[in-house]
Formats: sequence, C-alpha cells, structure tokens
Amino acid sequence: MPEPDRTPDDLALPAEAWADAANLLRRLVGVELRTISGGRRNVILAVSPPTVLVRTERSPQGQPVPIADLEHALHLLWRDGFVTIHPDVVGHRSSFLGAVLRTLPGSTVKGSPPCLELGAEKGVSHPLSDIGKELIFDGELSRGRTVQERLEQVSLRLILFGTEDSATCALCGEVYPVSFLWAAHIKKRSLCSDSERRDLAHIAMPACVFGCDALFETGLITVNDGGIIIGAGGVDGIVGRRIEDLRGRHCLAHSAESEPYFRWHQINIFRGQDLLNVNRSTLALIRFSIRKSVPPYSSLVDSWQLVRFRRYCQWQGLVIGND
Ligand SMILES: [Zn+2]
Repeated sequence: MPEPDRTPDDLALPAEAWADAANLLRRLVGVELRTISGGRRNVILAVSPPTVLVRTERSPQGQPVPIADLEHALHLLWRDGFVTIHPDVVGHRSSFLGAVLRTLPGSTVKGSPPCLELGAEKGVSHPLSDIGKELIFDGELSRGRTVQERLEQVSLRLILFGTEDSATCALCGEVYPVSFLWAAHIKKRSLCSDSERRDLAHIAMPACVFGCDALFETGLITVNDGGIIIGAGGVDGIVGRRIEDLRGRHCLAHSAESEPYFRWHQINIFRGQDLLNVNRSTLALIRFSIRKSVPPYSSLVDSWQLVRFRRYCQWQGLVIGND
C-alpha cells in the first residue's frame, strides 16, 4: 500500500478509511450498496484478491473489479481528504467504488461529478449514507440501534479512538483493533439527560466485544467508586471465569467526571447490588466475627441483612465460623 502524504492528525478519518482495501470490501460482502448517482444496486459476491466480484443489475452473475482500483481511490482520499467519483479519476468502475467509499463513516457527497469527502472536524456528528449508518463497525449490526444512536456512535468512536486503528479496552486493558471495540455507554443512553448525552468525553468507554462490553451491558460487572471492577457472584462456567479475570482490575475510563455515570450503572444495572450495600456496622460485625471466629448472625436485625452478609462473606472468600 502506498504511504499517504497526509498524516492521520490532519484529518479525522475513521479507522475504516485506513483499512486494507480487501478488508474494507469483506465487511460489505452481501450488503446492498447504492451507487451515488442513479442509486443502482451493487452487491459484493466475493472478495478474492486481486479482484472483487460485484453483482450489478446488468451482471447478475457478477463482474470482477480489481481491488487495486479501490486502493487507488483510498489513496486519493488519504492524500486529499476527497476524491472525485469519475472514470477519469478512479477508473471505469467508478460507480461501484463510489458506492463502497460512501459506506465510510463521515463521508459526504457534493457536486457533479460527485466529490466524496471524508474527515470533518473531530468529534462532530457526521451525516451518513444509509449504508454507513448500518456499518459503523463490524459487530454493530447485531445491536439493533436506532439511527440517532448510530450517529452518536460515530461521534463517540471519533472521540475515543480518533484515527487510531487499535485501542485499549477500558475494562480488560487489552489492546484490540478498533473494529473489535464498542463505544459503550456507561449510563444507558435512553436514560441520559440531554446534557449527559452531550458529555461525549465521559459518557462512554471503549469495551471489547470479547466479553467486556456484554458483561458490563448486562450488569455482571460494574466499576465501584474507587474505579475498581467488581463482579456479580454466583456465575458459573466461562462467564464466571471471565468475571473472575476482570474482578479487581482498575477501569481505565474511571475519572472524577465519569464517576457519576459509573455510579448510575452500579445502582441500576449491576446485578450484585447487595455487595455494594454492606454498611459500616455490618463490616464491623464481619471483622469482629472473623477475629472471634464466631457467627454473628444473631446480631443481624433482619433477614435481608443476613442474606447480604452471607453473600458478602462468600464474595470476599471469608470464613467466619459455623451457622
Ligand atoms: Zn475487554
């Protein structure tokens, strides 16, 4: 691949725009792509370098298109921030290439012949093509989001990832290609006030699709006021082991600004709230009972407190004598 003349710092290009052309095409296999002028349907049937097989209304069986043509068009985008979708500029399969480039998050089209632009101001919501709304990242289609949420996801991703092609999951601390990271809302988006929703720098964190996003979303893990990951107890199997791996880690997205959102998550989403509600007197009781090795249950005033106490001890691995 040729080196772009501009650096990623000049333009807020999404990671997809830096993707290897073949990989960019692979994520579009089977998706109905509309050409920019005329809205004709193109469907990628196969990606087998050096060509991609494209079905058009005229060629139902598919016609091979050199992948190098897309590489060339991408290079023009990197270099200039725009590319004119015309055979003189991008070759005789310009309609198909325009349809592919139109799927890049943040792309806009103006003029005639159409000029496709990328890389608006960082952190600003971009108008998207219909297909761009569907394909913000590889794992997103399964999440069933609204158009507004998808648009916001673009802004969040630009803030969290910028132009990087890899980033660190805030929960497990592993580095992943950004296509495997979700910009996860800490507080549920539908319940955020307008000002919270606009607090893009703190309302979301990168969470990997290898479990962290799902565990947080489903409330099996949360982040306490000290920024430490805590997990619900009593979960067996691979999910329980995954929770164990995360328990006690420092969450990289925790800060004074994001703490209220994490607290909201602790209270409303986390499935082990009882673990958070051990008050000072209960803790004193636990310490006392450990020291004396006696069961303190008779001192516990109600059954809820007792349940909470037992779970806390189990969670902490504390042995406090017999019932
Ligand atoms: Zn992770």
